[in-house]
Amino acid sequence: MNFKEQIQKRRTFGIISHPDAGKTTLTEKLLLFGGAIQEAGAVKNNKIKKSATSDFMEIERQRGISVATSVLAFIYKDKKINILDTPGHKDFAEDTFRTLTAVDSVIVVVDVAKGVEEQTEKLVEVCRMRNIPMIVFINKLDREGKDEFDLLDELEQKLGLSVTPLSFPIGMGYDFKGIYNIYEKNINLFSGDSKKNIEETIAFDDVSSPELENIIGNKAAETLRDNLELVNGVYPDFDKESYLKGAQQPVFFGSALNNFGVRELLDCFIEIAPAPRAKKAEERVVEASEKDMTGFVFKIHANMDPKHRDRLAFVKIVSGTFERNKPYLHVRQNKNLKFSSPNAFFAEKKEIVDISYPGDIVGLHDTGNFKIGDTLTEGEELHYKGIPSFSPEHFRYINNADPMKSKQLYKGIDQLMDEGVAQLFTLEMNGRKVIGTVGALQFEVIQYRLEHEYGAKCSYENFPVHKACWIEPEDPKNEEFKEFKRVKQKFLAKDKKDQLVFLADSQFSLQMTQQKYPTVKFHFVSEFD
Ligand code: GDP
Repeated sequence: MNFKEQIQKRRTFGIISHPDAGKTTLTEKLLLFGGAIQEAGAVKNNKIKKSATSDFMEIERQRGISVATSVLAFIYKDKKINILDTPGHKDFAEDTFRTLTAVDSVIVVVDVAKGVEEQTEKLVEVCRMRNIPMIVFINKLDREGKDEFDLLDELEQKLGLSVTPLSFPIGMGYDFKGIYNIYEKNINLFSGDSKKNIEETIAFDDVSSPELENIIGNKAAETLRDNLELVNGVYPDFDKESYLKGAQQPVFFGSALNNFGVRELLDCFIEIAPAPRAKKAEERVVEASEKDMTGFVFKIHANMDPKHRDRLAFVKIVSGTFERNKPYLHVRQNKNLKFSSPNAFFAEKKEIVDISYPGDIVGLHDTGNFKIGDTLTEGEELHYKGIPSFSPEHFRYINNADPMKSKQLYKGIDQLMDEGVAQLFTLEMNGRKVIGTVGALQFEVIQYRLEHEYGAKCSYENFPVHKACWIEPEDPKNEEFKEFKRVKQKFLAKDKKDQLVFLADSQFSLQMTQQKYPTVKFHFVSEFD
């Protein structure tokens, strides 16, 4: 198979949802289709249970699982499918945002009874901003839920999507009879058997035929015809180009637990979802088909084994082929690195590979060279864009609680920040260090990991800040900016990249400051070029 065919064969995507909507169940069923696992129950859920928020063994266990499920790859109908795992817990949303920079498309799972939930809104917003193609899967049709059309409205109103259903349920909950597949023009009857891998479908391209009554009964036939007529009247036809541009989102219905509607989703997915796409670097747009290897680090997992200082950096290959033992330029450090044992992922296993293609993820053993966002090339000065840091909303001073271990403490903090666990700010006024996180759980994770992985102890002190935002003056030399810096000195800090950050103590003071200094821009995401 030549290089171009290898690219065309790949589909790298993420599944996003609010916790409990059914992401893990769907992932597992998809793997069953690929023959990558043999039985249900093999994919571990890596969500942190609510009751376990301060149980660190649980956090550690979850980290173990999440390294195993970071990338789940399988082959289905000749396509190489890479599913990138995205944590559902909101305190780890940043991890998910970063993973979304490495996907070419996403599937959004929505619970039929709960509809669009908070986490879904946030994650879809990020995908929308980036025009990532999305398919929506409405799950748990074996249960009573909201009216289908109300759900479709919700997707449009709450998520700002332009949807078009490609399947439509026949009944729901107790009366769930099956699904009409608008895309394939067939009916799939529900039997409620979760063990079934292969579903029987009945070809049905003319729903006006009286045959429909024979198959699903009079009442259901009438309702289905009415519903399909409404779908036809209200929603545009599916248009692949619009989907690929992120301007239209097809919707499927089903029940992941019963493995129902999953094959339809997967079959449509491999047909319409994009192969690895071009990616913007600061310098230029890089096509997947370019010969030279380029890739970027979107995730780092450190210290899985406390006895060895091991880190695994996850690199998404954007262009060219990544080869074992070939030197690549680590652009930020301006040095060449070779990797003798790059890992590829297959189902839940990782193994050493000689060659990887665009769309693939390789796991590189690292001794501390990598940070999230680093770019590897064959010599070109290239910096991939699009790994944003989000405005943290929880802040604490971090102090050294064991003066004999300050070296360990700083090393630990440094590495945890490289991993993207939290952000470190240094106050302009007095040089004190402040940790900012998106979720409160991170403080406990940091304290625990500093102690267990680095032998260092830290303590925290409250730092009442509402939000951090990155500052960009229209003109660094103008009087307004100088005044801003003088007046607000108490609230200014630098992040790790030496970018200026404003720490607002309330929403009100943020607004007042924005009004008072109109030529100073306040950004809520660190990537604003
Ligand atoms: P995640 O948090 O999004 O990964 O959700 P899970 O896949 O862990 O599912 C959450 C719960 O919903 C579990 O108890 C699943 O068994 C259940 N579930 C998933 N899919 C379905 C479905 O189609 N029907 C029903 N009734 N339950 C489901």
